[in-house]
Amino acid sequence: MDSLSTPNASCSTIPVGAASELCTRCGMCCDGTLFASVALDENEKSRLGRELLPQTCVFLNGGCCQIYAQRPSRCRVFQCQLLEGMHASTESYQNALQIVADTKKLRDELHRELLLALPSLEGLPLVEALKKFRKQSKSLMGNALQRYLSHKREVLRLKKLLDQKLDEYFYPAKDASSREV
Ligand code: SF4
Ligand code: SF4
Repeated sequence: MDSLSTPNASCSTIPVGAASELCTRCGMCCDGTLFASVALDENEKSRLGRELLPQTCVFLNGGCCQIYAQRPSRCRVFQCQLLEGMHASTESYQNALQIVADTKKLRDELHRELLLALPSLEGLPLVEALKKFRKQSKSLMGNALQRYLSHKREVLRLKKLLDQKLDEYFYPAKDASSREV
């Protein structure tokens, strides 16, 4: 076991280690912060009884993948830049934890601002909320439109900051187009 990690008793499905500990504290590649869904191959569709895994993933529970040992191949091969850095020892666990915490804080601020702009986005993961934020603006009128406009600038500011962090640390460097897994 990595000396920096602490066993996560709530996540018995995942082998213990600094990298897995980081992931159980993050979960942003499973909860709709980075991706809208996970594509499945034919075997996985049949095994999981669904065509696609929309995010927030139904198998994510408290930062823990409930089907970790049998997770889909797209989940298995995905590593964010932060995790790659930890495996390559170019990123320390403590620094990675701080980056995750800062990014989630920014993500939550953006989510809050989105809800202030459009309360109907309640319950949607971030990627979906952002899509609807753009689309629904066209149908707004009166007070709803005023409310939207009064929060739009802050939404765009926070989104820009979050995108910078996600591009720098989380989306795969070699495949920036893979935002829909
Ligand atoms: S985004 Fe990176 S650190 Fe976060 S859960 Fe996914 S692989 Fe782990
Ligand atoms: S199956 Fe597991 S690893 Fe894949 S998105 Fe769902 S929770 Fe994450």
